[in-house]
Amino acid sequence: MSHAKTPEFHTIVVGGGMVGAALAAELAQSGHRVALVEVQPPGAFDPGGDHDLRVSAINRAAQRVFQSLGAWEGMMALRAHPYQAMEVWDAAGSGRIRFEARDLAEPDLGHIIENRVVQRALWDRLEQDPMVEIIAPDTLMGLDVRRSHAEITLASGRRLKALLVVGADGARSRLRELAGIRVNSRYYGQQALVATVRTALPHEDTAWQRFLSTGPLAFLPLGDGRCSIVWSADDARAEELRDLNDEAFCQALADGLDYRLGQVLETSRRAAFPLRGSQAEHYVRPRVALVGDAAHTIHPLAGQGANLGFQDAHALVSAVCAPGVTDAGELRVLRRYERARRGDNLIMMRSMEGFRYLFGSEQPPLAALRGLGLNLAHQVTPLKHLLMRHALGLGEHRT
Ligand SMILES: Cc1cc2nc3c(=O)[nH]c(=O)nc-3n(C[C@H](O)[C@H](O)[C@H](O)COP(=O)(O)OP(=O)(O)OC[C@H]3O[C@@H](n4cnc5c(N)ncnc54)[C@H](O)[C@@H]3O)c2cc1C
Repeated sequence: MSHAKTPEFHTIVVGGGMVGAALAAELAQSGHRVALVEVQPPGAFDPGGDHDLRVSAINRAAQRVFQSLGAWEGMMALRAHPYQAMEVWDAAGSGRIRFEARDLAEPDLGHIIENRVVQRALWDRLEQDPMVEIIAPDTLMGLDVRRSHAEITLASGRRLKALLVVGADGARSRLRELAGIRVNSRYYGQQALVATVRTALPHEDTAWQRFLSTGPLAFLPLGDGRCSIVWSADDARAEELRDLNDEAFCQALADGLDYRLGQVLETSRRAAFPLRGSQAEHYVRPRVALVGDAAHTIHPLAGQGANLGFQDAHALVSAVCAPGVTDAGELRVLRRYERARRGDNLIMMRSMEGFRYLFGSEQPPLAALRGLGLNLAHQVTPLKHLLMRHALGLGEHRT
C-alpha cells in the first residue's frame, strides 16, 4: 500500500472491546499501521474459572472473519460452545418455530462465547502483530481534525496522529461526542437480566427463547451443561425479578420457559442492563468513523448486536483498504462504509422493535397473527431456510 504523506499511524482505533479488537486485527492484516487505545485491557483468561455473565451468540459471518484473522482457534481453545438448534415460541399463542443446523447441512447454527473470550483471543493475536501498537490502559481525551490527518490526545498526555480515527468505544462513545456526531437514542423501558443457571433437563445444544408479554426469555447452551439466560423484561417486571431470592428466581425462570428444561436448580448472581435502541446520525465525518455500539445499539432479542459490529468492521476495512485508496480518512472513501452499513443496521434495529411490539401485545388479533407467522415460517421450508441463513449472517446465497 502506498500513502502520500502518512503520519505515524494509518488508523487509530479507540476502544479494544470485541469490535475494536476485530477491526484493529483486520486493518493490520490489510497493511495498516494501527494504534489501539483501550482504557481497560482484558486480563488473562482462566479456562478453569466460572463462566462470565456476558456471552454472545456468535454467527457464521463473524466466525469466518475470526478464522481469516487466525483468532478462531484461540477462542475455541479458551471456551466456546456450538449450538445445533434454536426454538422460539409464544407464551400467549400457539406459534412455534424450530431451526436445526442439519436442515441447512451446516455443522451448527453458531457458538455461544463469553465476550471476554472473544476479546482475549483477538488481543492474543494483536499482541503478536508488528503492525499494531497497543496503548493501554489509556483514555481518549481530545480530538483535533486537520485537513491531512487527525490528532488525538490521551489521558497520559500522549498525542497520536493518523489518517483515520475510529470510535469502537461503545454506546457512550467519547469519540462520537468529540466529533460532534449526534445520536438518536430511545430507552425501551426494558432491562435485560443475565445469569448462568443449571436446569434439571439437558439443554440439547439448543438456544431456547420464549416470548412472554413482558419480554423475551432466552436460555443459551453452555459447554458445561448449564445455560446462560437473558431475560428482557419491562422495568416493573425486571425490578421484581431482581429482588427475588435465588430460589424464587429459579422458580420464575422455570415457569417463564414453561418448564421446557424442567426445574431450574441453581443460579449464579444476576446482572441487569437497561436496553436502548440507538443510531448515530452519521457513521462518518472527515477522518472519523464509528463502528459497533458506538454507531448503533439494538434490542438483544435476536443476539445480533456484536455480530453487526463485526460486519461494520469488515465493511470499513473493505472501504479504506480497497485497491487505489491512498487516504483512509477521506470522506469520500468513508462514505462507502456508511452506505454499506447504516441502512442495514437501521433495518435490523427496526425489525427488533417490530418483533418486540408484536410479541409484547396480548391483543387477540396480534397474538393470532404472530402464531400464524411463526407456524407458517416453521412449515414453509424455503422461508425457514432464508430466515436461518439470515441468522447465520450468510445472506440469501451460499457463500
Ligand atoms: C444482555 C445482552 C445480550 C447480548 N447478546 C448478544 C448476542 O448474543 N450476540 C451479539 O452479537 N450481541 C449481543 N449483545 C450486544 C453486544 O454485547 C454488543 O453489541 C457488543 O458488546 C458491543 O461491542 P463493542 O466492542 O462495540 O463495544 P463495547 O463492548 O462497549 O467496547 C467498548 C470498549 O471501548 C473502551 N473504551 C470506552 N471509552 C474509551 C475511551 N474514552 N478511551 C479508550 N477506550 C475506551 C471500553 O473499555 C471497551 O473495552 C448483547 C447485549 C446485551 C446487553
